Amino acid sequence: MDYKYKGKEKEYQKKYQKIYRNKKGNKLRIKRQKKIYNKKYYFTYPAQRRNSITTWQQIGIKLKPDEDWFSIYDYYITEPECPNCGVEFGEGVKRNLDHDHDTGYIREGLLCHRCNLLRH
Ligand SMILES: [Zn+2]
Repeated sequence: MDYKYKGKEKEYQKKYQKIYRNKKGNKLRIKRQKKIYNKKYYFTYPAQRRNSITTWQQIGIKLKPDEDWFSIYDYYITEPECPNCGVEFGEGVKRNLDHDHDTGYIREGLLCHRCNLLRH
């Protein structure tokens, strides 16, 4: 215990508790900020691109030598409608990357969910 708190145990305890509480509060605040940051980062272009590409790789999509993931992603997110049926992408109409299940190569490219199901 600090020398200046000799005989004032209660006061010391109070001060210590205050410091402890602040430290705890700071930790929580940092945790919360990190969470918010992660959430914000999740919706950024590079994070979304990373996510999509990882998913495609996980489901077995492979690239031909003249293709690259970043260009495919840009094409994937900028195309406004399904090239096959013309439906506009948006909520309820999801984008799908059509690929050959045997070779893993991209076949039609972008398709809406419905067209993609019909292709299988
Ligand atoms: Zn379609």
